[in-house]
Amino acid sequence: MSKGFALILSAPSGTGKTTTCRLLREKLPDLKIAVSHTTREIREGEKEGLDYFFISQQEFEEKIKNNDFLEWAKVHNSYYGTSFQATDSFINSGLDTLLELDVQGVEALRAMDYQGIYILILPPSIKEMEARLNKRGTDSEDRILQRVETGKQEIKKYKMYDYVITNHIVEDTVNAMLSILQAEKVKSSHYRPASPDIEVLLKDGVD
Ligand code: 5GP
Repeated sequence: MSKGFALILSAPSGTGKTTTCRLLREKLPDLKIAVSHTTREIREGEKEGLDYFFISQQEFEEKIKNNDFLEWAKVHNSYYGTSFQATDSFINSGLDTLLELDVQGVEALRAMDYQGIYILILPPSIKEMEARLNKRGTDSEDRILQRVETGKQEIKKYKMYDYVITNHIVEDTVNAMLSILQAEKVKSSHYRPASPDIEVLLKDGVD
């Protein structure tokens, strides 16, 4: 069986990632989500096991020790990690899986040559990013400034990604992601013959 695709998505805070992911899930109901573990406090409206597995620092350290994580990173004073459990079973069963990672997570995966489609979503401008963070109202002024600074550093790393989408209109952003996935699936390197007669032809090495 061919493996599913890992769709690796990064977006600085205030880029509209949550809305984008919600719409993406609606349009691709079969897409699996690699739910991360985090030590950050749960926000209003978030659900355990759906948005994150919210765990203590001690539990997180235990998981690091047990090698449970494909990757982990400290982001804005909290720890975030993607477990092997959250990704491998889906991908190995041929299911496309979404991984939401910060730029450090992407760096780690690139370093291990992890196969996936790497997409970065960016705000139209820094001003817009600040405005979205202020509007969200979940963070203090200090935290907003910190998130904006982190965002600026993340934007500079755009070359690590295969695709960069500016999120002007969420519908367009999601459509671009669907197009990317569709195109990746029909790349010649992913081609799997649909019938035995074509398979035989390929094995014979006819050109
Ligand atoms: P938030 O606290 O706003 O949900 O996420 C903060 C940052 O952590 C975002 O950039 C998000 O993509 C990133 N993040 C979420 N889960 C993981 C993870 O498992 N690993 C890494 N490296 N980053 C993550």
